Amino acid sequence: MKAIVALGGNALTGKDRKADIKKQFEETKNTAKSIAKMVKNGWHIAITHGNAPQIGALLLQQKTAINYFSPMPMHVLGALTQGQIGYIIQQCLLNEFKRQGIRREISTIITQVLVDENDEAFKNPTKPIGPLYSDEEARKMKEKYVMGRVEGGWRILVASPKPLSIVESNIIKKMIEENIIVIAGGGGGIPVVKKGNEIHGVDAVIDKDFASQKLANEIGAEILLILTDVEYVCLNYGKENEQLINDIGIDELEKYYKEGHFPPGSMGPKIEASINFIKNGGKEAIITSIEKAWDALEGRTGTHIHE
Ligand code: ADP
Ligand code: MG
Repeated sequence: MKAIVALGGNALTGKDRKADIKKQFEETKNTAKSIAKMVKNGWHIAITHGNAPQIGALLLQQKTAINYFSPMPMHVLGALTQGQIGYIIQQCLLNEFKRQGIRREISTIITQVLVDENDEAFKNPTKPIGPLYSDEEARKMKEKYVMGRVEGGWRILVASPKPLSIVESNIIKKMIEENIIVIAGGGGGIPVVKKGNEIHGVDAVIDKDFASQKLANEIGAEILLILTDVEYVCLNYGKENEQLINDIGIDELEKYYKEGHFPPGSMGPKIEASINFIKNGGKEAIITSIEKAWDALEGRTGTHIHE
C-alpha cells in the first residue's frame, strides 16, 4: 500500500516551532520512530513536510545581512529548506532503521510545484512571513519583495496560490514503487509558473496540506496520512460541547466545513485537502498526531475520512 505522510510543524520542531537545530534533530528523531513502524509493516511512503520556522530563520538571517548580500528570493529559500529538512529526516530515519534492523533506502527530491500565474492569489498577496523590517530595510527589500505595512514596521507579503501539479511526481512515484522512502514536496513545494516552454520560480507559499494532496493523487496513493499535534479533528473545537470525529464521509464533513468548524490556516486546509483527495480517487485520509500514526493506520484512533 502507498501512503503520503504529511508532517506538520511539531513533527520537526516541536510544539513551540522554534528552528533551533538541536531541537530539530531531537524532534525528528521521535518522528522517525513513528515512521519506522509504518515502514516495518510494509508501507510504501513519501514524506511531505512544512517549513515555516526554517524559512522564517533564513529570512531573519538575510535581514541581518542586508548590507552585505542582496536577499535571495523565496523560491530559492524554499529549495534551501527542502535540502536542510530532507537531510535531517534522512539521517534520523537511517539511524532509526539501523537500530531496528530495517533495510530501506531513503532519498530527498527537491520538488517544484506548478501554479497558475493568473491565480487570484497573485493579484493581492496577503500572507505575511518572516521578521519585521524598518522603513529603510523595507525600501531595500521592495526591490525583490512585496512589502506590507504592519504594526511596528513592514513584513514580506506573499501569495498562497493553489498547486496545479507536482513537476517531479513521476520520479517520486517510481521511487516509491521501488520501495524507496521519498521525502518530497517540502514546505508545499517550490512554486513555479510556466513561461512559454520553460518554468520559473516565483515568490509565493503553497499550503503544504494542499501540495500533499496533489502529490498523493498524482502518485496513486491509497492513504493520505496528515500528522499534526491533535489526535482527532473535532467539532466545536475547544468549546464545552467539543466532539471528536472518528469516522466521517466527505459530504457530512463538507457540511461541517461550511459551518466554520475548521479555521483557515490550521485545520481548514487539512479538511479541504482530505476532501479533495477522496474526490480525486484516494481511498482514505487520516488526520491524527505523530505519536498515534501507527495506531491510526491500524484503525484504532484518529479521524478517518472517506467517500
Ligand atoms: P500543522 O503544522 O500540523 O499544519 P496547524 O497548527 O496548521 O499544524 O494545524 C493543527 C492545529 O489545528 C491543531 O493544533 C489545533 O489547535 C487546530 N485546530 C483548529 N480547529 C480544529 C478542529 N476543529 N479540530 C482539531 N484541531 C483544530
Ligand atoms: Mg498548518
